Amino acid sequence: MPETLRPKVLVVGGGPGGYVAAIRAGQLGLDTVLVDADRLGGTCLLRGCIPSKALIHAADKFAEIAGAAGGGNRLGIAIDGVPKLDLAKTVGWKDGIVERLSGGVAGLLARAKVRVVEGWARFSDAKNCTVETKAGPVAIAAEHVILAAGSEAVELPDLPFGGDVIFSTEALSLAAVPERLVVVGAGYIGLELGIAFRKFGAAVTIVEAAPRILPRYDEVLTRPVRLWLQRHGVELHLNAKVAGRDGDGRLNVETASGTLALAADKILVTVGRRPLTRGWGLEEMAVDMTGPFVRVDDQCRTAMRGVWAIGDLAGEPMLAHKAMAQGAMVAEIIAGNRRRFDPAAVAAIVFSEPEIVVAGMLPEEAKASGIDAAVSVFPFAANGRALTLEAGEDGGFVRAISARADGRLLGLQAVGRGVGELAGEFAHALVMGAVLEDLAHTIHVHPTLGEAIGEAALLGLGHALHL
Ligand code: FAD
Ligand code: NAD
Repeated sequence: MPETLRPKVLVVGGGPGGYVAAIRAGQLGLDTVLVDADRLGGTCLLRGCIPSKALIHAADKFAEIAGAAGGGNRLGIAIDGVPKLDLAKTVGWKDGIVERLSGGVAGLLARAKVRVVEGWARFSDAKNCTVETKAGPVAIAAEHVILAAGSEAVELPDLPFGGDVIFSTEALSLAAVPERLVVVGAGYIGLELGIAFRKFGAAVTIVEAAPRILPRYDEVLTRPVRLWLQRHGVELHLNAKVAGRDGDGRLNVETASGTLALAADKILVTVGRRPLTRGWGLEEMAVDMTGPFVRVDDQCRTAMRGVWAIGDLAGEPMLAHKAMAQGAMVAEIIAGNRRRFDPAAVAAIVFSEPEIVVAGMLPEEAKASGIDAAVSVFPFAANGRALTLEAGEDGGFVRAISARADGRLLGLQAVGRGVGELAGEFAHALVMGAVLEDLAHTIHVHPTLGEAIGEAALLGLGHALHL
């Protein structure tokens, strides 16, 4: 007979949703077990957010140093010789960060008195599962089950993963930079990694089915990224459809101007992610679905009493900070607190070159909602700090969307080098229900990129100072 654990709370998945839910449940004194088949940290920590940002940073460094070689750069910095990249060492450095953070999560769970069971959980009904651990099967019967199984990369039928067709996880651990990299999908991952590999020196081609890159955002916001791709020799095919491979292994791509045959050393497929709903008995749990996601209400309750779903499994946006917020909330509800998931904004950053930050409504969304909205755009070309960071010439800006009636902020966006760090102020302004005056009267430190937020707000009020 396998050992049976009977915790108050069982969390399935040790990603940002699951581990935060477990830590918070433990802090609140709930007897909690967390199950994960992998090391702790989930997609985000082990093969997503953290490793990709480490490689993006390394690629930035390499490109900067390479820019100083062969005659120097405009800052007057020159180096003799050509910088070399040992990608295996870069990957080793990245793995060290992942290792350290995963160990940190284990420490936090231990401090919260959460029991971690390592193995794959399979449910026989909504409240009972068996985990195959190295020491044998462990049965778990819990009063509350928090499902945080995350998501997996979408595969194209014409281009199955394997061999030279890779997805993000493999791209984050390559032994060498591919000479020719074809990226299929110009969304978050395709752009973040495609740009990083271009900076590492790969010849990069991007194939996108939609008429523009990052199709969920507007053309104006994504234009600086498209310009960067153009200026750095990245071949971009929009409105393009992958149609399998020819006898020589080249990728056939159908475009308006005919079928292209693209040669590649690696083909990175980044056409989206889907919730991980197969292989662990979800079908035995009598929960409802909405599209590919587990259906939840505004407290992350599923249709089955005592079963909760959070993070990528429970819907868009598939972002780590949303998963964490839902995880903490569910633990607090189970502990008896009144909470709802109704955020004023879940901000997002695309770590492309330059970066894009989006919080709240885009101009089109404001229009579609029927609100009479004003759009004010302040360019980084007029921001001193941006110029000192060589960030004033990429076409970047801060954009404020506000209600004409009362100046209430509906959305804040920015594109430009290093703008990711503005996400906190954007989200904070929306959560606090700020109006244009609140941002305009906040004394932003000089010289910072943040001054552009105050200026965009002043512009909305009709009197920008530095434009
Ligand atoms: P996951 O992190 O996917 O964790 C789920 C865990 O559950 C996994 O560890 C899995 O092993 C485990 N599991 C599943 N089923 C079982 C089972 N039956 N038994 C045992 N264990 C199980 N988001 C951001 O916000 N910022 C970023 O910069 C960012 N960058 C990304 C870069 C890449 C390359 C990728 C792929 C994703 C990125 N994301 C980013 C998205 C982010 O990783 C996800 O939104 C986040 O990880 C979702 O968290 P989660 O807890 O829902 O699930
Ligand atoms: P995505 O949805 O961002 O982009 C997928 C892209 O592929 C889209 O532009 C889509 O039009 C295109 N596409 C779809 N089918 C195609 C086809 N057959 N041929 C060519 N193009 C095709 O998905 P992703 O980049 O795989 O990322 C998945 C999710 O992971 C994101 O939506 C996001 O939630 C999360 N993520 C977040 C970050 C971040 O926060 N910085 C980084 C990476 C991933």
